[in-house]
Amino acid sequence: MTDDIMTPEMRDARYVMHPLTDARANLQSGPLIIDRGEGIHVYDLAGNRYIEAMAGLWSVGLGFSEPRLVAAATRQMERLPYYHPFSQKGHGPMVDLAERLVTMAPVPMSKAFFTNSGSEANDTVIKMLWYRANALGQAQRKKIISRHRAYHGITIAAASLTGIPANHTGFDLPLPGFLHLTAPHYRRFALPGESEEDFATRLATELEELILREGPETIAAFFGEPVMGAGGVIMPPRTYWEKIQAVLERYEILLVADEVICGFGRTGCMFGCETYGIRPDVMVLSKQLSSSYLPISAILLNERMFEPIADLTHSIGTFGHGFTGGGHPVAAAVAIETLRIIDERDLVARAAEAGAWMQERLATLADHPLVDEVRGVGLMAAVELTPARLADPPAWPTGALGRRAALLLQQQGVISRAMGDALAFCPPMIIDREGIDAIVAALRTTLDLCLKEAT
Ligand code: PLP
Repeated sequence: MTDDIMTPEMRDARYVMHPLTDARANLQSGPLIIDRGEGIHVYDLAGNRYIEAMAGLWSVGLGFSEPRLVAAATRQMERLPYYHPFSQKGHGPMVDLAERLVTMAPVPMSKAFFTNSGSEANDTVIKMLWYRANALGQAQRKKIISRHRAYHGITIAAASLTGIPANHTGFDLPLPGFLHLTAPHYRRFALPGESEEDFATRLATELEELILREGPETIAAFFGEPVMGAGGVIMPPRTYWEKIQAVLERYEILLVADEVICGFGRTGCMFGCETYGIRPDVMVLSKQLSSSYLPISAILLNERMFEPIADLTHSIGTFGHGFTGGGHPVAAAVAIETLRIIDERDLVARAAEAGAWMQERLATLADHPLVDEVRGVGLMAAVELTPARLADPPAWPTGALGRRAALLLQQQGVISRAMGDALAFCPPMIIDREGIDAIVAALRTTLDLCLKEAT
């Protein structure tokens, strides 16, 4: 068939290899192609409208048609479409954004370093941690602790931090030196009769035992998302962060907060660190930073992190790391405008209010026979399904029910994301009660359809 009589889906199947996709499935049917966006909605090529209940990839906070972001990008394109921060050069948008981020951080931070994606940012932090250890004359301090079910990205080191098997299998990952602890999922991993607080104590003890086993002097840092996102919206149990931080402080191990999803209002405060009383040495920011209209990520470093690194750059004569697009002026200008809009429209408070409504409405599904757990905070949530009550549960291997439900929900006009058997919800922060009600109604219909199909 020639290209001019093929549909865009067929051309996609012929020419595109997709991330996080079964390549053979795409060869067979092609993808859902999204054509345009407006507010909380996106439209496919046939004109079907969907509520984007994942804000793309947890990221389009301001929705899909914010004209001020387009105007900010255009203005910057016209003035200076590109410049870089290498070799002691700079430009206005990067300075403005760095100042804004350092001064708005919930704990004292010293510097911002810019990258293009969450993965690049986390890889960069790992390199900075290794560099810092060498700067301090602690060459053995290179191991990094993270958690099963964590998602920190997919570049080689970031994927090693990630604790999801699908991101390791086939890639010979994780690299040695990346240590994973139990995911803080109370419902899944608590022992019978164990309270949330006792579960948190047990996980903190697990951390301490790992540190002692490996040798505290070999551990560089602990990485954590305040709330795990792609691993299934896993809520830290009560007192978890307090207890984890007490252990890290005891052994002088740095804490990196991966705020790539949680940052900029998602959990009901500006940062997830505020929601959970986390005091990190490093914060990693991206996604809602620019509402994902352009790729940008930022690393905030405190003095404890920055000072030794600065010393080593001085003796070597440079910091031998950076990206052509890091701190891109157009992306930085869009990020600054995004932050202005979040402030002017009081979007963090609005998202907190909408988030409370979303949690309340989703909780009404807890009585459905297919629902095992509804969990979430602010405007991020997961509805965990279970095939246990279907006629033939073994016919539904892990993930099959989640995938089926996500597809049926899409046919009801709502895009969510299956993570195993959990469906994730993380709509744009501009969503109102009406939008949330529409998501919950479509989900109830979907669950009823799933139940009917499989019984
Ligand atoms: N960290 C977290 C918490 C994320 O959720 C993600 C992506 O979803 C990343 C890092 C990686 O970001 P990116 O896809 O921009 O590389």
